[in-house]
Parts: sequence; C-alpha cells; structure tokens
Amino acid sequence: MQGGSIIIPNKRLRKKNGISLIEITHHTKVKKIKVFIIMKAESIFLRFSLILSAILLTLSCAKKNSSSSESSDNFTVSEIAQTSGSDGLSGSFVVPENSISFLLSVFLDNNNSVVFKSLTDPDGIDILSYSSTPNLYLDASGSSGSSVTKYGYANVLIPQSPSFSAKTGKWTFTAYNNDRVKLALRKGVIPLEATIEVQPFITGTTWSAENILDALTILSDIYLENGVKITINNTITITEGEYSSVSPTFTNTTTSALVKQGSSDAVNIFFIEDYSGIGSGILGNAAGMPGSMGEVNSWNGVLVSLSAHASGTVVDAQLLGETAAHEMGHQLGLFHTTEKGGNVFDILSDTPECTISSLDNDSNGILTAEECDLFGGDNLMFWTSWSSTSRSSGKKQDKLSSFQQYVIKHSPIAK
Ligand SMILES: [Zn+2]
Repeated sequence: MQGGSIIIPNKRLRKKNGISLIEITHHTKVKKIKVFIIMKAESIFLRFSLILSAILLTLSCAKKNSSSSESSDNFTVSEIAQTSGSDGLSGSFVVPENSISFLLSVFLDNNNSVVFKSLTDPDGIDILSYSSTPNLYLDASGSSGSSVTKYGYANVLIPQSPSFSAKTGKWTFTAYNNDRVKLALRKGVIPLEATIEVQPFITGTTWSAENILDALTILSDIYLENGVKITINNTITITEGEYSSVSPTFTNTTTSALVKQGSSDAVNIFFIEDYSGIGSGILGNAAGMPGSMGEVNSWNGVLVSLSAHASGTVVDAQLLGETAAHEMGHQLGLFHTTEKGGNVFDILSDTPECTISSLDNDSNGILTAEECDLFGGDNLMFWTSWSSTSRSSGKKQDKLSSFQQYVIKHSPIAK
C-alpha cells in the first residue's frame, strides 16, 4: 500500500512442509478472519512485514455523487449520491422487492484508508454497529472494526452469512471521506444451481493456457460438487513483460493495471508467473473478502502464482486448482473456517471449527490440516493446505458447508 501504513492487529505465520501461510487475523471475535496468502517459504520472517504490505487488500474512502449503471436484467451497479454534513458523508438507496444480495463499496482514489461509519437497514438496525445483533462490525472491510485492509477500497456484502438479508426498503449509510460509493445489486430468483463466470488470465512466457487447463477443471469440479456451476471463459494471455511478476498489493500501480484488464461481471483469476520481489513464493491472494464485483477496478480479481505451484516444468494441478478456488472463495466473501491459532473462526455457524485446546496434538500452537482432519481440514477455506505427504496420499480441500454455499449462491455476481 503505497505509502500508507498498515495496521495489523495480529499476524501469524505458519508453515508446514514447505508451505506457509501468512495470516492476518482479528482477535476480537471468535468469528472472523482473514486470509491471505499462502506462502511457500522458509524464511518468512524477514520478509513478513513487507509481504504483508503487499498483500493486503485495500480500501479507502471516497465520496460522492450519483448516478448510474450498467447491468443485465437482474444485476445493476450504480453510484450513490452522498451529501456532506456535520457527521461526514451520507447517502441512501432503496433495495427493491425480490432482491437477493448487494455489495456496497466505498472508494478513495488516493488509496488511503476508507470505511463507512454506519449502514442502517430498513428496520433501523445499523449492521456495522458492535451493539447490533447480528452485526458485521468486525467482519466487513467497510467497517471500522475490521482489521482487513482498507486502502483505497472497502465494502459491505449482504448476505455475508444467512443471518443477514437484502431487506426490501430504504438503507442509509454514513461514511468517512471518500471519492465514491457504489452499489452492486442482484435481484430475481435464486436458481437451484447458481452459475458464476470465471475469467482466467495468464501472464509471462514460461507457461501457457494449456498448463492451467487441468487446474481450471478441478476448480470447476470443486464448485459444482458444492452446488455452484462455473462458466469458464477462454483464457486470455497477457504477454507484456511487466505483468509476468507483480506485487500482491492491489494498489500497486502494475498490479492495479493488470487487474483492471479483468471482466466486470466475472471472477477474474490472474495466473501470474510469480509475485515480484518479496512476494515471490506466495501461492495466491485475493483482493478482498469479498473483493469488488460488477465493475472494472483494482480489486476485481485474485492473483495466483504459477511458479509457486510448479516443480520444474510440472504444475501441481490439484493444488493449483484448490488455491484458485480458495482465493475465489475469498473474493466472493468467504473467510477461513479456522485460523492457524485455532481460536478464530469464520462467521458461519455451520462450518467445522478446529479448536486449539483439544486438537493441537503436538502442542505447538498451530493447527495443521492433519490435526483438523475431522474438523474442517478438508474444507476449501481451511487456513492452510494439506502437507505434501497428505496431498500425495490423496487428501483434498474441496468441501464447502451449506452456509458457505449459501454465501456463494447469493453472490451479487452469481446468476
Ligand atoms: Zn486463504
């Protein structure tokens, strides 16, 4: 993040069989997490803070005015007019009947931190207030209580769990300084099997579209087994040298220019040759939990490193597919089911929780997928991958709970 300082309440590092995860977590509540980067490295400590910077998502504040949209029948993106008052900026929008979901995003073009102060539903409940039940105070990046990065961009997704819904009626918000607030709204009827479009990109000259075919099939199969059909567009190859290796920071100029080549209505997956500089070795990272949806900007996509999944000229298709599917899960609003320390979990009540108190067999303070074998180690959103030994024996991470599926199926960009 470009110049801004990053405040990370808690960071942890974990590594296992060569694969480490850098996590940034919140403590405060037993349900919230953030995930980020899966790193393959041994000496991460040194690079840690750098990498963190590089990794975080982003948000900021923006402000402003209104007007309108693009869309397909049941999906619209519009800018919401804001008025300036003693309490900062404020605005409102009406959620029509039959609405399924929405993503309210706030932008700040100088990439400083940006968040909402409140978001009040038609029943008068400020869902960003800690005192409301339920609330997203600690969980939405667009809330001041969340430790997720908010540089240049932040948002609130409804529903981020079945406890929330896109209630019909007038919603109002107040926000700190920003450049614009946008609403991506989906209405209609939820099909039994939701469909989400994926747009793959590949950068560099080492690998070609053929090298990611199997991984894309694995990604597609993982979602299909969980009730979500994936439509995969033809892979777009980006040959310009500057995009071969990019920073994991979405506000980085080059990374931003790359992600802006994405499609507005798809989950854009950028299979880069590698991350640049200190980011080298990271498996993948998403622009947010969720990231942006419905428009072209710096946060509408995820990055996945090919070199981090390769051994010589061979790509580990299963792990690559799982990483891409995992980052896509973040991009659509899913958190880790269980964090590394085994004391922070996602906000979904039906996801398996692996607790440090009873399952840390080696008492090292870190929960591995193996230790959580019967408690979510096989969930797509578990905080770290299986060890290479387990993967060799056929262990996979491809499960999503009913509520995780609920969030994905209700996604504003699902159809
Ligand atoms: Zn993750």
